[in-house]
Amino acid sequence: MRKNLVAGNWKMNTSFQEAKKLASEVANMVKDEEISGVEVVICVPFPYLSVASKLSEGTGVKVGAQNCSQKASGAYTGEVSVTMLKSMEVPYVVIGHSERREYFSESNELLTEKIDIALANDLTPIFCCGESLETREAGDHFEFVCQQLTESLFHLTAEQLQKLVIAYEPIWAIGTGKTASAEQAQEMHAKLRSHLANQYGNEVAEEISILYGGSVKPNNAKEIFAGKDVDGGLVGGASLDSRGFVDIIKSF
Ligand code: PEP
Repeated sequence: MRKNLVAGNWKMNTSFQEAKKLASEVANMVKDEEISGVEVVICVPFPYLSVASKLSEGTGVKVGAQNCSQKASGAYTGEVSVTMLKSMEVPYVVIGHSERREYFSESNELLTEKIDIALANDLTPIFCCGESLETREAGDHFEFVCQQLTESLFHLTAEQLQKLVIAYEPIWAIGTGKTASAEQAQEMHAKLRSHLANQYGNEVAEEISILYGGSVKPNNAKEIFAGKDVDGGLVGGASLDSRGFVDIIKSF
């Protein structure tokens, strides 16, 4: 169901001590400042999921993993399965982040498997898509991102599709300090929603939350979130500062 959502992606950052401090600060601020009308998720490194869940209990903050294996279980040393995440009651998992696509060669095809296994285990995938600077400068960005959706998601039923969240993250804006303008974000989100509507109908497309990610900061979040097809953000660097992250959430 479409909802406003802000997810922090801590990436491969924080020591255990730092993670506990950050998770409890975010959880306490969200609770004490009575934030409502927006789902708050912190996507922490795998080893910290358990403690982050515990520290978030009763505060409204949910936890998410940053990746999962496409395999259910077995001899896959170093991998983390969705069944493990499910057994720890982790509700969200980021799938297809551009860093995984780039550094770990994750293809649209592989991501279909991850999406399928996550949905089959009742986890909500936050499916990332987005174009490189080269693709944008060539004017192929709409076609490229729509193709990512077609290839990784369009095998799903409408019912399955409505269980996931999409995050549009232009690669040229991730960790670069260069944000897409509010107009560029809204324009792409509207395009993605109409691409979903062409395949699944308007009613279904209107139910999907589409987040924007790429150098979202407390000073630009309000403008970006104002787009009518922008339902929140996936926040990397700025989610490592509890006050800044909560200020981003409060931009709604
Ligand atoms: C991200 O990691 O998904 C991200 C958007 O990073 P940043 O906010 O640092 O650009």
